Amino acid sequence: MTKITASDKKVRRYIKYESELDQTFIDKIGDAAYGEQLLSCIQCGTCSATCPISHYMDYTPRRIIAMVRAGFKEEVLNSNTIWLCASCYGCTVDCPREIKITDVMYALKREAILEGSNPRGFPIPILANKFFRQVRRHGRQNETRLLLTVYLLTNPLNLLKNARMAMRLYFKGRLSLFENGIKQKKSLRKLLKTLDRNQN
Ligand code: SF4
Ligand code: SF4
Repeated sequence: MTKITASDKKVRRYIKYESELDQTFIDKIGDAAYGEQLLSCIQCGTCSATCPISHYMDYTPRRIIAMVRAGFKEEVLNSNTIWLCASCYGCTVDCPREIKITDVMYALKREAILEGSNPRGFPIPILANKFFRQVRRHGRQNETRLLLTVYLLTNPLNLLKNARMAMRLYFKGRLSLFENGIKQKKSLRKLLKTLDRNQN
Protein backbone atom coordinates (compact mmCIF):
# COMPACT_ATOMS: atom_id res chain seq x y z
CA MET A 1 0.00 0.00 0.00
CA THR A 2 1.35 3.46 -0.90
CA LYS A 3 2.17 5.51 2.13
CA ILE A 4 0.56 9.00 2.29
CA THR A 5 3.31 11.49 3.02
CA ALA A 6 3.06 14.92 4.64
CA SER A 7 3.58 16.52 1.24
CA ASP A 8 0.67 14.45 -0.21
CA LYS A 9 -1.53 15.78 2.57
CA LYS A 10 -0.42 19.33 1.79
CA VAL A 11 -1.27 18.87 -1.88
CA ARG A 12 -4.68 17.41 -0.92
CA ARG A 13 -5.41 20.68 0.92
CA TYR A 14 -5.25 22.53 -2.39
CA ILE A 15 -7.17 20.03 -4.51
CA LYS A 16 -10.93 20.23 -4.41
CA TYR A 17 -13.82 18.90 -6.42
CA GLU A 18 -15.84 21.58 -8.17
CA SER A 19 -18.81 20.73 -5.97
CA GLU A 20 -16.76 21.65 -2.88
CA LEU A 21 -16.06 25.16 -4.14
CA ASP A 22 -18.31 28.14 -3.44
CA GLN A 23 -19.11 29.67 -6.82
CA THR A 24 -21.02 32.55 -5.20
CA PHE A 25 -17.93 33.75 -3.33
CA ILE A 26 -16.59 35.84 -6.21
CA ASP A 27 -19.95 37.63 -6.56
CA LYS A 28 -20.11 38.46 -2.87
CA ILE A 29 -16.56 39.81 -2.71
CA GLY A 30 -16.87 41.38 -6.14
CA ASP A 31 -19.97 43.34 -5.07
CA ALA A 32 -17.99 44.86 -2.21
CA ALA A 33 -14.77 45.40 -4.16
CA TYR A 34 -15.21 46.16 -7.87
CA GLY A 35 -16.08 42.69 -9.14
CA GLU A 36 -15.66 43.13 -12.90
CA GLN A 37 -12.04 44.18 -12.39
CA LEU A 38 -11.40 41.17 -10.20
CA LEU A 39 -12.15 38.92 -13.17
CA SER A 40 -9.59 40.72 -15.31
CA CYS A 41 -6.62 39.61 -13.15
CA ILE A 42 -3.88 38.17 -15.39
CA GLN A 43 -2.03 36.52 -12.48
CA CYS A 44 1.13 38.49 -13.25
CA GLY A 45 2.19 38.46 -9.57
CA THR A 46 3.08 42.16 -9.41
CA CYS A 47 0.93 42.52 -6.28
CA SER A 48 2.81 39.73 -4.49
CA ALA A 49 6.18 41.18 -5.51
CA THR A 50 5.16 44.63 -4.24
CA CYS A 51 3.63 43.45 -0.98
CA PRO A 52 6.07 43.99 1.91
CA ILE A 53 4.41 41.26 3.98
CA SER A 54 3.72 38.56 1.39
CA HIS A 55 6.65 36.55 2.75
CA TYR A 56 4.72 35.95 5.99
CA MET A 57 1.33 35.29 4.42
CA ASP A 58 -0.31 31.87 4.02
CA TYR A 59 -1.21 32.85 0.46
CA THR A 60 0.26 35.77 -1.47
CA PRO A 61 -2.10 38.50 -2.76
CA ARG A 62 -1.91 37.04 -6.32
CA ARG A 63 -2.95 33.67 -4.97
CA ILE A 64 -5.76 35.15 -2.89
CA ILE A 65 -7.24 36.76 -6.02
CA ALA A 66 -7.05 33.42 -7.86
CA MET A 67 -8.62 31.57 -4.93
CA VAL A 68 -11.47 34.07 -4.57
CA ARG A 69 -12.23 33.67 -8.27
CA ALA A 70 -12.13 29.89 -8.01
CA GLY A 71 -14.38 29.74 -4.91
CA PHE A 72 -11.89 28.64 -2.22
CA LYS A 73 -13.95 30.47 0.38
CA GLU A 74 -13.01 28.41 3.44
CA GLU A 75 -9.27 28.58 2.77
CA VAL A 76 -9.31 32.31 2.03
CA LEU A 77 -11.42 33.28 5.05
CA ASN A 78 -9.28 31.16 7.37
CA SER A 79 -5.95 32.43 6.05
CA ASN A 80 -3.71 34.86 7.90
CA THR A 81 -3.16 36.85 4.67
CA ILE A 82 -6.24 39.03 5.02
CA TRP A 83 -5.30 39.93 8.60
CA LEU A 84 -1.63 40.56 7.93
CA CYS A 85 -2.42 42.98 5.12
CA ALA A 86 -1.27 46.38 6.39
CA SER A 87 -3.42 48.35 3.91
CA CYS A 88 -0.35 50.04 2.44
CA TYR A 89 -2.03 50.14 -1.03
CA GLY A 90 1.26 49.19 -2.75
CA CYS A 91 -0.42 46.33 -4.64
CA THR A 92 -3.36 48.50 -5.68
CA VAL A 93 -1.09 51.22 -7.07
CA ASP A 94 1.07 48.75 -9.04
CA CYS A 95 -1.59 46.39 -10.41
CA PRO A 96 -1.59 46.67 -14.23
CA ARG A 97 -5.33 45.85 -14.25
CA GLU A 98 -6.17 48.50 -11.65
CA ILE A 99 -7.64 45.89 -9.35
CA LYS A 100 -8.33 47.34 -5.90
CA ILE A 101 -6.59 44.52 -4.02
CA THR A 102 -6.57 46.41 -0.71
CA ASP A 103 -10.36 46.77 -0.96
CA VAL A 104 -10.62 43.05 -1.69
CA MET A 105 -8.69 42.42 1.54
CA TYR A 106 -11.14 44.66 3.44
CA ALA A 107 -14.12 42.87 1.90
CA LEU A 108 -12.59 39.53 2.93
CA LYS A 109 -12.03 40.74 6.50
CA ARG A 110 -15.68 41.82 6.74
CA GLU A 111 -16.82 38.47 5.36
CA ALA A 112 -14.57 36.55 7.77
CA ILE A 113 -15.99 38.48 10.74
CA LEU A 114 -19.56 37.84 9.59
CA GLU A 115 -18.84 34.13 9.07
CA GLY A 116 -16.88 33.83 12.33
CA SER A 117 -13.86 32.44 10.42
CA ASN A 118 -10.25 33.00 11.44
CA PRO A 119 -6.90 31.21 11.53
CA ARG A 120 -6.57 29.28 14.83
CA GLY A 121 -4.90 31.08 17.73
CA PHE A 122 -4.17 34.14 15.58
CA PRO A 123 -4.98 37.25 17.68
CA ILE A 124 -5.66 39.94 15.04
CA PRO A 125 -9.05 38.66 13.75
CA ILE A 126 -10.22 37.89 17.27
CA LEU A 127 -9.25 41.41 18.35
CA ALA A 128 -11.05 42.92 15.33
CA ASN A 129 -14.13 40.76 15.92
CA LYS A 130 -14.44 41.55 19.63
CA PHE A 131 -13.70 45.25 19.04
CA PHE A 132 -16.43 45.38 16.38
CA ARG A 133 -18.98 43.68 18.64
CA GLN A 134 -18.18 45.86 21.68
CA VAL A 135 -18.50 49.08 19.71
CA ARG A 136 -21.69 47.85 18.11
CA ARG A 137 -23.21 47.02 21.48
CA HIS A 138 -21.94 49.87 23.68
CA GLY A 139 -20.88 52.60 21.27
CA ARG A 140 -17.28 52.43 22.46
CA GLN A 141 -14.83 49.80 23.52
CA ASN A 142 -13.39 48.87 26.91
CA GLU A 143 -9.67 48.08 26.62
CA THR A 144 -9.51 45.89 29.72
CA ARG A 145 -12.31 43.60 28.65
CA LEU A 146 -11.09 43.54 25.10
CA LEU A 147 -7.56 42.52 26.08
CA LEU A 148 -8.77 39.95 28.60
CA THR A 149 -11.01 38.29 26.00
CA VAL A 150 -8.30 38.26 23.34
CA TYR A 151 -5.67 36.80 25.68
CA LEU A 152 -8.05 34.15 26.99
CA LEU A 153 -9.00 33.09 23.47
CA THR A 154 -5.48 33.09 22.05
CA ASN A 155 -2.69 32.79 24.59
CA PRO A 156 -3.76 32.88 28.29
CA LEU A 157 -0.11 32.68 29.38
CA ASN A 158 0.42 36.18 28.03
CA LEU A 159 -2.02 37.37 30.67
CA LEU A 160 0.47 36.38 33.36
CA LYS A 161 3.36 37.95 31.46
CA ASN A 162 1.58 41.30 31.20
CA ALA A 163 -0.22 41.27 34.56
CA ARG A 164 2.30 43.60 36.20
CA MET A 165 2.07 46.22 33.53
CA ALA A 166 -1.74 45.94 33.52
CA MET A 167 -1.82 46.59 37.30
CA ARG A 168 0.39 49.65 36.88
CA LEU A 169 -1.89 51.01 34.16
CA TYR A 170 -4.94 50.25 36.28
CA PHE A 171 -3.61 52.18 39.30
CA LYS A 172 -2.72 55.13 37.08
CA GLY A 173 -6.33 55.18 35.88
CA ARG A 174 -5.43 54.13 32.31
CA LEU A 175 -7.43 50.87 32.40
CA SER A 176 -11.00 50.58 33.58
CA LEU A 177 -12.98 47.49 34.53
CA PHE A 178 -16.30 49.19 33.97
CA GLU A 179 -18.22 49.30 30.74
CA ASN A 180 -18.31 52.94 29.61
CA GLY A 181 -20.97 52.89 26.93
CA ILE A 182 -22.36 55.97 25.21
CA LYS A 183 -25.63 57.47 26.44
CA GLN A 184 -27.63 57.11 23.24
CA LYS A 185 -27.18 53.40 22.61
CA LYS A 186 -30.69 53.09 21.19
CA SER A 187 -29.99 55.69 18.53
CA LEU A 188 -26.73 53.94 17.66
CA ARG A 189 -28.49 50.60 17.22
CA LYS A 190 -31.14 52.22 15.05
CA LEU A 191 -28.44 53.83 12.91
CA LEU A 192 -26.52 50.55 12.51
CA LYS A 193 -29.71 48.66 11.64
CA THR A 194 -30.47 51.17 8.91
CA LEU A 195 -26.94 50.82 7.57
CA ASP A 196 -27.25 47.02 7.59
CA ARG A 197 -30.54 47.21 5.71
CA ASN A 198 -29.08 49.54 3.10
CA GLN A 199 -26.11 47.24 2.53
CA ASN A 200 -28.27 44.15 1.93
S1 SF4 B 1 -1.01 42.68 -9.89
FE1 SF4 B 1 -3.18 42.73 -10.49
S2 SF4 B 1 -3.26 41.56 -12.41
FE2 SF4 B 1 -1.29 41.07 -11.43
S3 SF4 B 1 -1.72 39.21 -10.20
FE3 SF4 B 1 -2.03 40.97 -8.84
S4 SF4 B 1 -4.22 41.42 -9.02
FE4 SF4 B 1 -3.71 40.13 -10.75
S1 SF4 C 1 -2.25 46.56 0.73
FE1 SF4 C 1 -1.95 44.64 1.86
S2 SF4 C 1 -1.78 43.06 0.26
FE2 SF4 C 1 -1.46 45.04 -0.73
S3 SF4 C 1 0.76 45.36 -0.73
FE3 SF4 C 1 -0.03 46.36 1.11
S4 SF4 C 1 0.10 44.82 2.72
FE4 SF4 C 1 0.31 43.73 0.78
